[in-house]
Amino acid sequence: MTTSRLTVLGSINVDHIMNIAQFPAPGETVIGKQYQTAFGGKGANQAVACGRSGADITFIACVGDDAIGAEILAQLKHDRIHTAAISVIPETTTGVAMIFVNGDGENVIGISAGANAALTPECFSPYQMIVAQSDALLMQLESPLETVIAAAEIAKKNQTKVILNPAPARELPDSLLRLVDVITPNETEAEKLTGISVSDETGAAKAAQALHDKGIEQVLITLGSRGVWLSINGEGRCIPGFKVNAVDTIAAGDTFNGAYVTALLEGKPADDAVRFAHAAAAISVTRRGAQPSVPWRKEIDAFLA
Ligand code: ADP
Repeated sequence: MTTSRLTVLGSINVDHIMNIAQFPAPGETVIGKQYQTAFGGKGANQAVACGRSGADITFIACVGDDAIGAEILAQLKHDRIHTAAISVIPETTTGVAMIFVNGDGENVIGISAGANAALTPECFSPYQMIVAQSDALLMQLESPLETVIAAAEIAKKNQTKVILNPAPARELPDSLLRLVDVITPNETEAEKLTGISVSDETGAAKAAQALHDKGIEQVLITLGSRGVWLSINGEGRCIPGFKVNAVDTIAAGDTFNGAYVTALLEGKPADDAVRFAHAAAAISVTRRGAQPSVPWRKEIDAFLA
């Protein structure tokens, strides 16, 4: 059996997470309770979910020429990811997210794109063949939009399936949407894209139809603990997720996306691929952190057995 090939194009960040009782006011200094760093970035989280769930995956991304960039590259290799298309950008820092979490569990986040901003169409250009020779391309919106569009154009010309996780939420040009085969917004992102509120199944069906009208065949609107609205060419239904004791939903969507694409490339029908992705995401919400929470294939198979 030949394995299908997957490319992920996206961001790499290191998350600095500090727990504090209350957010500081301007000019104020507060003493933190707990501090940790974890590898994150939507692109890297989804690449890791693909690698650990069993895909043959190449990741197109950028890190800085700092020590953390080198550490991240080593970890991605350990996660079964081909890293030859990850550029090390001179005199640039690796992307950073500074996250404060207060006593109520609310967060404020500042992101420095760092090396992620260097993933321009010129930087992507030498890797066009990787996309052309892949069976699928998975992207998010933490990379320059013109690069996302350039990669989708190459994919479309070469019958590579384009899967877009449109996060973080923003409006998108029709010229990009018409290149997309599968789109996976959460409720907020679906509303931002379509202007339709996704508070119930009727809203989900309407938003999915608006995305079909842009030329997208498969729409998956993730609904947190309620599961996902799956709509294929206008035929929609809710597929509930698994009930688990959730402790931290960071990277739940990223885990869902990575596992879903892995399952699609294995030839699973969409319903079965959703079940597989629900299982992976359900495991991830029972664990803390972004990449540390992403399960390996044997854990997903054991969960479903
Ligand atoms: P995002 O993290 O992008 O906002 P969602 O919150 O919609 O994404 O969650 C994505 C997927 O993660 C869901 O479709 C589901 O499979 C899983 N998930 C999220 N929250 C829970 C939960 N509390 N219990 C079980 N599964 C969950």
